[in-house]
Amino acid sequence: MPTPQISAVSIQKSYRKGELRVPVLKGVNAAANKGEFLSIIGQSGSGKSTLLHLMGLLDSPDVGEVRLDGQRVDNLPSKTRDELRNRVFGFIFQFYHLLPELTLQENVLTPLMIRHPLWTYWPRRKHYREMALDIIDQVGLSHRLKHRPSELSGGEMQRAAIARALIAQPEILLADEPTGNLDSETGGEIMDLLHRLNEEQQLTIIMVTHDESVAASAHRTIRLAQGQMEQVEKVA
Ligand code: ADP
Ligand code: MG
Repeated sequence: MPTPQISAVSIQKSYRKGELRVPVLKGVNAAANKGEFLSIIGQSGSGKSTLLHLMGLLDSPDVGEVRLDGQRVDNLPSKTRDELRNRVFGFIFQFYHLLPELTLQENVLTPLMIRHPLWTYWPRRKHYREMALDIIDQVGLSHRLKHRPSELSGGEMQRAAIARALIAQPEILLADEPTGNLDSETGGEIMDLLHRLNEEQQLTIIMVTHDESVAASAHRTIRLAQGQMEQVEKVA
C-alpha cells in the first residue's frame, strides 16, 4: 500500500454546548491517494464539514492526527500550518463564498493577493491576470470576467469559486457540498468539471455531500455515521 497523500487517523472531535461536551467524530479514519476522487457521505449534522475542516488544517482534532504524505501536520505551529494550508489545499463550499463587491476576475485573483505582499504582487500583476484568464477559461467563464457575483447564476458562481481555488495550484481540492445549492442539471455540470480537473490534472479531490447520487460518481465513497466511518461498497 502506498502512503496516502492525505490521511486523517483516529480523529476525535467534540464541541461544547454549555456544560455538555458533544462528540461529533469518535475515531474517524479517512485517506486519499494522489489523483483520487473520494466522496464522504453522511446526513446533515454527521460531522462532514467538521472532518473536512480538520483535514484542510482549518481546525485541529482533539485526538488523532492529520498526515500529508505520511508526515503529521496537525500539530505544527499555526504559522507553518497556515503556509501549508495555502500551498496544499483549495476549498470550495456550498454557498461559494465569493466577495460580492469584486468582479469574477478579481475574486479569482484574491488568493494570490493574500499570498503575496503588494511589492511582489504588483510587478507580476500582468502575469497573474493572465493566469486568472487561463483558469477562468478552463471553467468556461471567459464571457463573465467583469461580472459581479450577483450577476452570475449559481452554477457560474460555483465555477468562479473553483477557479479561485485552482489559481493557487493546490494539490488537494476539498469540496463541501459543492452541488448542495444547485439544481440537479447544474450540479451535474459542476461534477463534470470536477471530474475533468481530477483526470486532466491528477488533482486529488475530497468531496463531502449528503446526496447519494452525487457521492456515487467518485472513485470511492466512505460514509460518516454516528461519529464513525464505514466503507461503501460499489454496486456494479
Ligand atoms: P455536517 O457538515 O455533516 O452537516 P457539521 O460538521 O457541520 O455536520 O456538524 C456536526 C455537528 O457538530 C452538528 O451537530 C453541529 O451542530 C456541531 N457543530 C459544528 N460546528 C460547531 C461549532 N463550531 N460549535 C459547536 N458545535 C458545532
Ligand atoms: Mg456541512
